Amino acid sequence: MFQNSLEFAKQCDSEDNLAPFRNQFHLPKDTSGNTLIYLCGNSLGLQPKITSAYIKEELNDWATLGVEGHTEGNHPWLPYHELLTESMAKIVGAKPGEVVMMNTLTTNLHLMMVSFYRPTKTKYKIVVESDAFPSDKYAMESQLQFHGFNPKEGLVLWKPRKGEELCRFEDLENIMKAQGDEIALLMIGSTNYYTGQSFPLKKITALGHRYNCMVGFDLAHGAGNIQPNLHETGPDFAVWCSYKYLNSGPGSLGGCFVHERHANNKQLKRFTGWWGHNKQTRFNMRHEFDALPGAEGWQLSNPPILSMAAIRASLDTFEKAGFENLRKKAVKLTGYLEFLIDEIKDSRINIITPRNPEERGCQLSIQVKNANKELHAQLTKAGVISDWREPDVIRVAPAPLYNNFEDVYQFSQKLKRILQQ
Ligand SMILES: *Cc1c(COP(=O)(O)O)cnc(C)c1O
Repeated sequence: MFQNSLEFAKQCDSEDNLAPFRNQFHLPKDTSGNTLIYLCGNSLGLQPKITSAYIKEELNDWATLGVEGHTEGNHPWLPYHELLTESMAKIVGAKPGEVVMMNTLTTNLHLMMVSFYRPTKTKYKIVVESDAFPSDKYAMESQLQFHGFNPKEGLVLWKPRKGEELCRFEDLENIMKAQGDEIALLMIGSTNYYTGQSFPLKKITALGHRYNCMVGFDLAHGAGNIQPNLHETGPDFAVWCSYKYLNSGPGSLGGCFVHERHANNKQLKRFTGWWGHNKQTRFNMRHEFDALPGAEGWQLSNPPILSMAAIRASLDTFEKAGFENLRKKAVKLTGYLEFLIDEIKDSRINIITPRNPEERGCQLSIQVKNANKELHAQLTKAGVISDWREPDVIRVAPAPLYNNFEDVYQFSQKLKRILQQ
């Protein structure tokens, strides 16, 4: 169904209803003004052109209204986060009350573990996939230590088998069979940042709950990429950032999901702040803490509005494109990338990301045996922005909002040329 030609790539672009969205983003250029092939949306998404206007609006309200902007602004700051909720909820398949944008990813992970990692002397272990993102591992290890456990013993790694790169669900089942009674929490990345493998979230959730464990997902590489259907999938919580596939700018705020079943449970331990308090009495300042129902009840501080404005710009763009359309294009675009890499027919190349589109998002992790970072440097010199992971993996992620089929084709040609040198 695919063809290895520029003509074919251009034809796909001309048939793509989402193609006009590319022009709504700032595409990075080299010093001579040539547009680079940007395949790093899994690390930092590109800037929508409307973002600066959204931020400027808030700067103007601040300049002209000062503190009154909290209530009198065009988009009053007090309830500003509520403007993000509905479209964010759609992208992760949640009910609006289950989602809030706040803090950053690792902070949210800690806050969620305060509430949902409640170890006892005998049921205290945490399961994580072995190649989890370092920040997540640090957070889990420190939580174990905080509760007086040895992280070496308390952190159970779900590992690929010897000679394999991907994790098998049955091996997670085996871990649970052997140690389920001692495990308190399954904390899994929905889509692994290194291999690009998307895990079967619903099966993992059911498995964890069968053993009376809490289940949480890190959607850093999932949100805006795959559809995790969080409400129906049923984990207890999930966290993500908004600067990767969600294009909200470096270090922008994270997202947090708390399943509806916990929405009104005021017995849950949590770390609190005034923004999680009942909106009616928040400014009386004298009431005992009264948690807002749902995910909002975990907010701590009044949020940075400029960052929220950038998120609003990005979510408006997603809303216009429609997440289902994006996902459909992503499957085709990444499928085309896979086809073209196979066409290079170089025995050193091994795509470690699953071949099945259901088990991956946009990203392909391309292992090049015996390669070193020089390969990445040459790609960069050839005008490709990609990502290198030691020892020998290039990660590329065509993002359906702004990447096109020609990007993918040109990338494959450049990679081929460099490998043939
Ligand atoms: C990107 C990423 C992070 C980064 O965490 P921050 O708190 O936003 O700096 C953490 N975990 C995973 C899985 C990631 O992909």
